[in-house]
Amino acid sequence: MDDPVVHQYMVKIIGEDGVAILGRLPAGEIVDEVVSADTGMDINVIRKTLFKLYENRLASYRRERNPETGWLTYHWSLHLDNLYERLDIEFARLLKNISERLEFETSNVFYTCKNNCARFLFEVAAETDFICPVCCEELFYQDNGGLVQRLSDRITEMEATIRK
Ligand SMILES: [Zn+2]
Repeated sequence: MDDPVVHQYMVKIIGEDGVAILGRLPAGEIVDEVVSADTGMDINVIRKTLFKLYENRLASYRRERNPETGWLTYHWSLHLDNLYERLDIEFARLLKNISERLEFETSNVFYTCKNNCARFLFEVAAETDFICPVCCEELFYQDNGGLVQRLSDRITEMEATIRK
């Protein structure tokens, strides 16, 4: 959890509350009610955290039904060793999205109006004789050089972290 990338990812999944809880969970199989009783942490926050981890394949559970009360008890196991694999998948997805966006930005020409109603591709702007279909102002060429540069810098940065 000390790794800032890991920490950021965990905050995204389970929130700051969840990260705080995760740091206080005992090792081995756990029962949410027992952890709550032992630590005084809110049972609902513990459950929410565990189910969020489960959704992300970072925890699993087995259920046992109490034959007398019919209540289900969840016995949880954490699989934080899957974290790096999950991070790699997340990272690859993000890199792909940014690369596709860069490709889109560099292979198209964009037009916009002075009110910034929307961005129009050249083909679309030409169809309306370079008049904004929203506000009827003139459409003019939009320089996306800054955006292209930012996207391309981001990709370089991301690729550099892979090489580490
Ligand atoms: Zn407009």
